[in-house]
Amino acid sequence: MDLKNVCVYCGSSPTLDPAVEKEIRAFGSALATRGVGLVYGGASRGLMGAIADEVLAAGGKVTGIIPKALEGREAAHRGLTELKVVGTMHEREQLMFDLSDAFVAFPGGYGTMEEIIEMITWKQMGIHGKPIVIANIGGYFSPLLQQFELAVQKKYARTEDRILFGVADSTKAVLTFLEGAPVLSRKAGDWA
Ligand code: AMP
Repeated sequence: MDLKNVCVYCGSSPTLDPAVEKEIRAFGSALATRGVGLVYGGASRGLMGAIADEVLAAGGKVTGIIPKALEGREAAHRGLTELKVVGTMHEREQLMFDLSDAFVAFPGGYGTMEEIIEMITWKQMGIHGKPIVIANIGGYFSPLLQQFELAVQKKYARTEDRILFGVADSTKAVLTFLEGAPVLSRKAGDWA
């Protein structure tokens, strides 16, 4: 995997599904083993905390990024390799994007879905060509993927845009995708 840092979006809540926690922890230790850093939202709780803890326990590097206003309110992880505090949520999204070579969504709520869809949207617009993977563990994202298909059928999304992201049903499949994924060389405006 020719990647320095991978950004993971996932729930700030704990999962009810032990298989999801097992897979995200396996992904965290696989990143550490490969010398790939984790970039994420900086929380100590939920699935977010689980993957950060796992990477750190395996000797890997974790960069957390949180907006100033949330620093006190949210349980920021104090044991990270680096915790970057930024001004706004928009600055956070931008910095997570700038620091990362690929984006992976594991199960989560609104925040997770918003963040991964933003990366797909930016790729659709030609702002970047970095790999994006939806880790559809236990079929969690299947209804969302069906919605994406409906958008294609109704011509709100282009058929060729299906390649903007990969779908993987396990950590192993996420790694396989990332190891083989090309970084597309589109420039901003090419597809606009
Ligand atoms: P959610 O899926 O709604 O729990 O939101 C999780 C995603 O949104 C993460 O990938 C974070 O980047 C961001 N996020 C939402 N809530 C928090 C929080 N309390 N602390 C840190 N990041 C959060």
